[in-house]
Amino acid sequence: MKIYDILIVGAGPCGLACAIEAQQKGLSCLVVEKGSIAESIRNYPLQMRFFSTADNISIAEIPFAVAEAKASRVEALQYYRKVAEYFQLPLLLSTEVKTVKKEAAHFTIVTSNETYLAKKVVLAVGYFNCPKKIEVKGEDLPHVKQYYDEPFAYVHTSVVIVGGGNSAVEAALDLYRHGVKVTMIIRKQDFKPTAKYWLLPDLRNRVKEGNIAVNFESEVAEITDKAVFFRQKGQSTLKSVEANTVFVLTGYTTDTSFLTACGIKVNENDLVPAYNTDTFETNVEGLYLAGTAICGIYTEKVFIENGRHHGKAIVADILEKNAQKMEV
Ligand SMILES: Cc1cc2nc3c(=O)[nH]c(=O)nc-3n(C[C@H](O)[C@H](O)[C@H](O)COP(=O)(O)OP(=O)(O)OC[C@H]3O[C@@H](n4cnc5c(N)ncnc54)[C@H](O)[C@@H]3O)c2cc1C
Repeated sequence: MKIYDILIVGAGPCGLACAIEAQQKGLSCLVVEKGSIAESIRNYPLQMRFFSTADNISIAEIPFAVAEAKASRVEALQYYRKVAEYFQLPLLLSTEVKTVKKEAAHFTIVTSNETYLAKKVVLAVGYFNCPKKIEVKGEDLPHVKQYYDEPFAYVHTSVVIVGGGNSAVEAALDLYRHGVKVTMIIRKQDFKPTAKYWLLPDLRNRVKEGNIAVNFESEVAEITDKAVFFRQKGQSTLKSVEANTVFVLTGYTTDTSFLTACGIKVNENDLVPAYNTDTFETNVEGLYLAGTAICGIYTEKVFIENGRHHGKAIVADILEKNAQKMEV
């Protein structure tokens, strides 16, 4: 069986950037992706526009030309697909990596289809497939969703949004502008300061007008078929609000169960995996992390903007270690 120099798990922007770097430095590589190219971005809200300018999310020095300064979801999907094709990256799509096991001389990578061998492995698995749960009764009902898609399915209905971060703020405004009755339930005293700064005044004005209802310092107690029950700070009785659909948009975290199954140590407080901040090598020799997979609960610290450069450091480290081995 062929032993790849490097196998990369995840074809998001950071996994692709890493694969291009490896290929350009003469390493044989394979990218294994459980969905499509840039699967996380494919699952973003359909009308989403990036907060970064296009040049800041471009990879491998291939210009990302867009009509406006900031790319739309569709433009980004086209861009990453074209870049992957331009570099003829060896991609194995619709294939989930189940486990990565370190053997004496290589790694064994078990996927949903076949098993592969590689000398080094990079986990560029992101966080988007791991939404934070609120752990209440009714959270798994079919009308409770962890991802916001588009407004037209909800026109003239009542929607409850749980969360006060960027995804929640964007969804609330978008739904309100499409004739949806929106109520927000937020644990904190205010919206998250990391929400897009140009959206917050818009939302606050809609709240002041009474067009979007917001309950701060409130925690969901239970979700039923038709309503959300929640407790406001200092109140002994539960309040309820009608809901045809509930969006729980409380953020994402690294999928720690996958990382620990691969042997990576994870800090139990902030879910940050153990890795060298210069080389991105984990506590498992030869096993690296790239992109937003490193962030634990700090999803506001790693983006495409900085994660796209991780591949360069990883490949440099691999080449340096290979050279040291040759000398010995
Ligand atoms: C709504 C939203 C807007 C954002 N806007 C910006 C922005 O404007 N600018 C910016 O810099 N960042 C932005 N980010 C953050 C960051 O861009 C994204 O999270 C980005 O996609 C991260 O790239 P990545 O390659 O690290 O991970 P991802 O793009 O999440 O890629 C990980 C890939 O790994 C795959 N995968 C996971 N597990 C497995 C497995 N076991 N086997 C095989 N494949 C697997 C996934 O399917 C996925 O395709 C945004 C994030 C969100 C949620």
